[in-house]
Amino acid sequence: NHEFSTVGQRVRDDDRRHVFHSWSAQGHIDPIPVAGASGSWFWDYDDNQYLDFSSQLVNQNLGHSHPRLVRALQEQAEQLAYIAPSFAAEPRSTAARMIAERAPTGLDQVFFTNGGADANEHAVRMARLYTGRHKVLSTYRSYHGATTGAVTLTGDPRRWSNEPGMPGVVHFFGPYLYRSAFGADNETDECRLALQHLEQVITLEGSDTVAAVLLESVVGTNGVLVPPEGYLAGVRELCDRYGIALICDEVMVGFGRLGHWFACDAWSVTPDLITFAKGVNSGYVPLGGVVIARDIADHFAARPFPGGLTYSGHPLACAVAVEHIKVIEDEQLLPRVRSLGTRLHAELTALAERHPSVGEIRGMGLMWALELVRDRESREPMVPFNATGEANQPMATITASCRDRGVWPFQHFNRLHICPPLNISDEELSHGLAAYDEALKVADEYVA
Ligand code: PLP
Repeated sequence: NHEFSTVGQRVRDDDRRHVFHSWSAQGHIDPIPVAGASGSWFWDYDDNQYLDFSSQLVNQNLGHSHPRLVRALQEQAEQLAYIAPSFAAEPRSTAARMIAERAPTGLDQVFFTNGGADANEHAVRMARLYTGRHKVLSTYRSYHGATTGAVTLTGDPRRWSNEPGMPGVVHFFGPYLYRSAFGADNETDECRLALQHLEQVITLEGSDTVAAVLLESVVGTNGVLVPPEGYLAGVRELCDRYGIALICDEVMVGFGRLGHWFACDAWSVTPDLITFAKGVNSGYVPLGGVVIARDIADHFAARPFPGGLTYSGHPLACAVAVEHIKVIEDEQLLPRVRSLGTRLHAELTALAERHPSVGEIRGMGLMWALELVRDRESREPMVPFNATGEANQPMATITASCRDRGVWPFQHFNRLHICPPLNISDEELSHGLAAYDEALKVADEYVA
């Protein structure tokens, strides 16, 4: 369609002239101009369609343009588009109540933010003021956001060029059996040794200087690392023993991604603070927040909490969050995600058997990773850690192969992830898996 292409060209030209992009060398990008999107699909101005196996940034839990979310947004805009956080507003009150009702027992207050990074910033601030301590421990294989504190808490390389950042952050190793930091060869040992390591870090840092342990309940971007049975409970126990607040970052895994409202529910662990964003409302309007345990909230009953945001609890964002929770319930998506997780486990196991480039598959619900290797024996990753440019060429070729087949993958380092919207159909999931199957033939060519 000629007219469409002309618009697409203008969108692209204006973008390249005036839009400064995240995480990119500005001269090395060529973004696809997107014309529209619906459900699990988006398309450009030349009628190329992509099945979104990435839910954009793993945030569109109900996909694009869900009619109920669009209606909720329109109705709220007509009623009350904005009111300052100091007022009580219906969408804000209702969203907070509905989130509290679904959170682990004892966490019943919500502080709303604009996204995940500022949720983590505020959770850390609460933990520091509550404990009267300043250090925060977080894992190397993690991402917690891009603001100064959150990027310091982040373990992955995005932290490096932003250092020194916020004082008082110490990193530790979480469990990751496939590339164990402890030399373990089974989940039980990995769990025990990871807890022993964390306790040593707490001791050597001085337990009474540590305000919080911050971790992703299941690590997302940095590997889809599902903790072994007993790990989160063990961290909870260490935090209790040393008077440390446990903050679970559920920005990526909360609100149904793993088939539970909150990922920590899967292990019956109750943190002191849970941070959320992304899937709370699929990003139709930015929203994040902190769910707060009653004793921490009470700490600020008589003394003011020193934090706030102009858009805390934005009515439009909260109205979408309220409808989002209702849709997940009405469409019974939590059990559906759990059963799709079982299906994916079986199908990815079969996929891994067919393709020597797959070193390991792992995941839960609708968040899975295929860890690609050059050699299954040595586990040499398909590309080196944090590879760019020529060194990353194999992964660039593999992801291009998915895109050529009309499937938009999530790729990080030597991994392909599968994290589509929670309401993806069976047929769409099959379509995406078939594209990954073909792309893995490309990956197999790099196997030694
Ligand atoms: N925490 C986790 C686990 C994330 O995956 C992300 C974003 O990818 C963030 C925090 C930061 O969220 P935001 O980009 O909304 O600031």
